[in-house]
Amino acid sequence: MSEEIHQYEVVVVGGGPAGMTAALYSTRLGHDTAVVSRGGGRAAMMQEVHNLLGVREETSGAEFLGIGQEQLTEYGCEIHRDMVSSCSRGDDERVTLSGNSADYEAEMVVLATGFNDVRPDPPLPRTGRGLHYCLHCDAHMFVDEPVYVMGHAESAAHVAGIMLNFTDEVDLLTRGAEPTWSEETAAMLERHPIDVVEADVSGVHNGEDGWLNALEFEDGQTREYKGGFAMYGAEYNNGLARELGCEIHDDGTIEAGDHGETSVDGVYAVGDCVPGHNQIPVALGQGAKAGIDIHFELRDFPRDPETLDEMGPVREDEVPGIPDQLLEQAVDFHTYD
Ligand SMILES: Cc1cc2nc3c(=O)[nH]c(=O)nc-3n(C[C@H](O)[C@H](O)[C@H](O)COP(=O)(O)OP(=O)(O)OC[C@H]3O[C@@H](n4cnc5c(N)ncnc54)[C@H](O)[C@@H]3O)c2cc1C
Repeated sequence: MSEEIHQYEVVVVGGGPAGMTAALYSTRLGHDTAVVSRGGGRAAMMQEVHNLLGVREETSGAEFLGIGQEQLTEYGCEIHRDMVSSCSRGDDERVTLSGNSADYEAEMVVLATGFNDVRPDPPLPRTGRGLHYCLHCDAHMFVDEPVYVMGHAESAAHVAGIMLNFTDEVDLLTRGAEPTWSEETAAMLERHPIDVVEADVSGVHNGEDGWLNALEFEDGQTREYKGGFAMYGAEYNNGLARELGCEIHDDGTIEAGDHGETSVDGVYAVGDCVPGHNQIPVALGQGAKAGIDIHFELRDFPRDPETLDEMGPVREDEVPGIPDQLLEQAVDFHTYD
């Protein structure tokens, strides 16, 4: 455990779009909030952003996340660049998150830790320039273009089939591995115009713009592609959720309700680490719902009749409920005077 302990009402682990949105709502709704993130993640891998209304496609993931960090800081959310390696819950129900640089304590925790795409072995095209992981994001780029799908499991065969909705040139590259898909899936592949290429990839030809032109194979053939998808599964960052006792699905996703609430009180999970479509707009929506739900849980006023009977009427000096520092920043932020 580190000597330095930062105290908050809300700590969000993971500074991707899901976590930062939860923090944006929690901060702007008047709760002392921090984001602890080691950086990187799936959003940071985006060369350009697709499917995000109001954001231009040429915006990179790094730029998108950078603007998010500026917004959070302006509203008074603290951002710590740190890796949370373990966590525990005290008798007072507060959660302690142990980072490499400090410890962070909070009443409410949001896990927005995402997952890592399993990367196939090299040689490989450049990520976002011929090697892709997100069908909903990038299938549109390959309309009427030659594409590959790399993998040997059900998911790869399924995605190869789906790509026929976008183009008539689809190869499924098993790269020398024995396919693990079912007989039914093998029959599906046979009845669709999909070439299954068994030889492993031995070389990559890129154009001057860095985009993939073609792949070379160990059996000597060269095939032209605009790009394709790698389907080797996901490693979910669910270690903290497990430590806190949250229910985890068989595939590694964290079980979460409609507002991100997990099976453990005061712990929320949002974004790619929960089941869903793994898209930024979805992550933003989940973060927003969790942030609002946390406000419903934490806000002080109006007090219920039992509390008023116990504590007496609310005194003038108890309001407003927003912490002093967030109040000052909110007043500074106002642009109408
Ligand atoms: C190459 C690529 C391109 C994509 N393009 C698009 C697109 O164009 N449009 C679209 O809508 N979606 C796109 N996606 C999907 C999108 O990036 C994800 O759905 C989105 O980023 C999910 O957000 P998130 O906040 O859940 O996770 P992430 O963005 O993965 O963020 C999770 C964060 O948590 C941090 N973290 C994890 N564990 C810890 C820990 N223990 N301590 C501290 N920090 C931790 C990670 O380092 C990371 O910073 C793309 C994905 C990829 C891989």
